[in-house]
Amino acid sequence: MTAQIISGTEIRKAILGEIKEEVDQMKEKHGKVPGLVTILVGSSPASISYVTLKVKTAISLGFHEIQDDQPEDISEKDLLALIDKYNNDPDIHGILVQLPLPKHIDDKKVLNAINPDKDVDAFHPVNVGRLMIGGDEVKFLPCTPAGIQEMIVRSGTETSGAEVVVVGRSNIVGKPIAMMMAQKGVGANATVTIVHTRTKDLASHCKRADILVVAAGVPDLVKPEWIKPGATVIDVGVNRVGMNEQTGKAILKGDVDFDAAKEIAGKITPVPGGVGPMTIAMLMKNTLRSAKLSLGID
Ligand code: NAP
Repeated sequence: MTAQIISGTEIRKAILGEIKEEVDQMKEKHGKVPGLVTILVGSSPASISYVTLKVKTAISLGFHEIQDDQPEDISEKDLLALIDKYNNDPDIHGILVQLPLPKHIDDKKVLNAINPDKDVDAFHPVNVGRLMIGGDEVKFLPCTPAGIQEMIVRSGTETSGAEVVVVGRSNIVGKPIAMMMAQKGVGANATVTIVHTRTKDLASHCKRADILVVAAGVPDLVKPEWIKPGATVIDVGVNRVGMNEQTGKAILKGDVDFDAAKEIAGKITPVPGGVGPMTIAMLMKNTLRSAKLSLGID
């Protein structure tokens, strides 16, 4: 049996369509639209391309979007003052600072200066704490884990009582998705195990998983024989394994041996075209939520 492919590209399209509809309604009923500022320091080509994609997506949804580009040598004090300005701007509901920042700036200090109610990346310790508490306390979920959960739910995978195994314990993927799946609520109520480099017998844990989330950054780490027949496999890994000489683009591979795994899994995400496209959709969803909260309509 070949697994159902969970397409992040298609789910993203559906989510962006839903957001656009809500933005149009908000504009009509309240005369307001979500406001997002994207702060880019310096001119790293990778950062420019990430920011450009975020800005384009926000504009396509009808957001009020400010792209605030700052020179590489901006002082930490001036950057903090800029954050403070947007913290106090009622038309801005989401503040994004593109990482990495130049070495002379303490990125932790900058990210922690963002008002947690405008922290649409959900990296601020207040939002990490809210995620731990769960329920109504949560304002924003971190974007990649939120995208993973959305894919699990929209693919029709049952999570309640499911054995979820998360490979990886990073602050941006492994730990938050594990906590989210263990919470009470829709798309959660799972029994969760986190595994990492010190885990004894990784294979035996993976084999138990009804839902296997892999975020290790190691190409083909998960072997097909580690997958429980019929399991839902979410491959978060993005590994550059070479260069396509014709297109000049990097060849990407996930953390799961996709071709073999798709013959065993029930549902599986591809790389590319799986979790990757979801992150930006969830960023836009968080910005919409922030605007709704500020209007008292969520
Ligand atoms: P990270 O900070 O490097 O963390 C990797 C985690 O995997 C660590 O907890 C590490 O364990 C564990 N790990 C590594 N090798 C392992 C092995 N052989 N066996 C068991 N565990 C192992 O990475 P990350 O930021 O979470 O990202 C993980 C992957 O997801 C990367 O490929 C990244 O590019 C991708 N990613 C994709 C998106 C997206 O598509 N939007 C977003 C974020 C990340 P230890 O803690 O013991 O070292």
